[in-house]
Amino acid sequence: MQRETATLSNIQVNLTRGTQTCESLVEGYLSRIAAAPDLHAFLSVYDEEALSQAREVDKKIRNQTAGKLAGLVVGLKDVFAYRDHPLTAASRILNSFTSPYNATVVTRLLEEDAIIIGRQNCDEFGMGSSTENSAFGPTRHPADPTRTPGGSSGGSAAAVAAGLCAASIGSDTGGSVRQPAAFCGIYGLKPTYGRISRHGLVSYASSFDTVGLMTRCLDDLAPLLAAVAGPDEHDSTASHQPVPDYARPEAEDRRFRIAVYREILDAPSLQPEVREALHRAMDQLNKQGHTVNVVHFPLLDYLLPTYYILATAEASSNLSRYDGVRFGHRAPEPANLESLYKRTRSEGFGPEVKRRILLGSFVLSADYHNAYYLQAQKVRRLIREETKQILRDHEVMLLPTAPTTAFPLGATSDPLSMYLADIFSVQANVAGVPALSFPFGADAHGLPVGLQVLADDFAEGTLLSFVRNFEVGR
Ligand code: GLN
Repeated sequence: MQRETATLSNIQVNLTRGTQTCESLVEGYLSRIAAAPDLHAFLSVYDEEALSQAREVDKKIRNQTAGKLAGLVVGLKDVFAYRDHPLTAASRILNSFTSPYNATVVTRLLEEDAIIIGRQNCDEFGMGSSTENSAFGPTRHPADPTRTPGGSSGGSAAAVAAGLCAASIGSDTGGSVRQPAAFCGIYGLKPTYGRISRHGLVSYASSFDTVGLMTRCLDDLAPLLAAVAGPDEHDSTASHQPVPDYARPEAEDRRFRIAVYREILDAPSLQPEVREALHRAMDQLNKQGHTVNVVHFPLLDYLLPTYYILATAEASSNLSRYDGVRFGHRAPEPANLESLYKRTRSEGFGPEVKRRILLGSFVLSADYHNAYYLQAQKVRRLIREETKQILRDHEVMLLPTAPTTAFPLGATSDPLSMYLADIFSVQANVAGVPALSFPFGADAHGLPVGLQVLADDFAEGTLLSFVRNFEVGR
């Protein structure tokens, strides 16, 4: 694996000095992409376009008019609208679709002179944890081609880890940025719900969906988040909370109070190396003078059912727009309107998406609405309250990002065991709080282990300074 470890600010120093150009940077990424076709991280590579964008940014650097992300080469998970570019959400139903407009994140990236190098593979509509649900075939783990890079933003994580781009924009509805980041040994930030506009992000479960950021260098998250966060007239759920200067260094001697769940330390499903990593992190934090408290979180068992009831309910409603009339795939020569709908959707959606539409329609149906959907809404409220309660006494909570390291492709063939892979990642989405996954050691096969920290609403800055502080102290 070839790795480009320079931070954006290092690169920008070289660009300003003239010892490097954006064009040569992009050429480097393109040749690494060309050398790694078997990863299947990209669905399209925008080579000519990225090179001409790079030449434009090089000109701006010479004129001292370049934006804050000049020199950052970014991939987009294939769930973001990018004008005049294909957008499929890795689904056959959108196979021929070209976006007529830009997502707000895309607009903001381009305004700050980030260079977009391609769109990346993922699970269909973000539904999955391994990229095996992509209609276009799975992505492979960069360190072991027999394994998954995780999902749903697996193409993005594999690309960043393999040095095929410096950062990627993913989406995190139940862990899709953090779990693949953990599997591939990179950083993955799921911001507070509403911190980044969802305008132009293909909807999966709207009350959980967030735009997430993936980078190889921790320091690159701050400028990236600052560039894309903030209010947006196209998304009424985008928060007006001011965007702080995330790059401002925090006092290095800041000491944190950290909560760890007893229920996780005892969880039988935890891979032993992941459990050891958690214990090792707790020891190191104690040695650094932080306070680690083991607390109870009795709602752990309710996280997955709550998430999967509500997310599938919202998905069944969101995905009703793919009807063969408005956009994407349209079944040829239907006998009547009903057969157009049926055939278009039967042909266009993959099995996992169909399963979720069925589940979601079931939990919303008249007879079961109270028992499942309304009940899950109540439990969601309890989970949020309990999470906030712990965060009143602790700045961060420390959890494994996933119960295991990267698992073999094809190994998790039943849907339920795939859902169990999300046990630790869904809490942040159910509660709406921010979470950051960071690499912490490796298992016996050398596969990365990821841990994550959760903090209170809009405390992304706390997460960044906590992980920086922890890494500097190690
Ligand atoms: N794996 C989870 C799911 O399948 C989360 C996906 C996501 O965050 N988009 O729903």
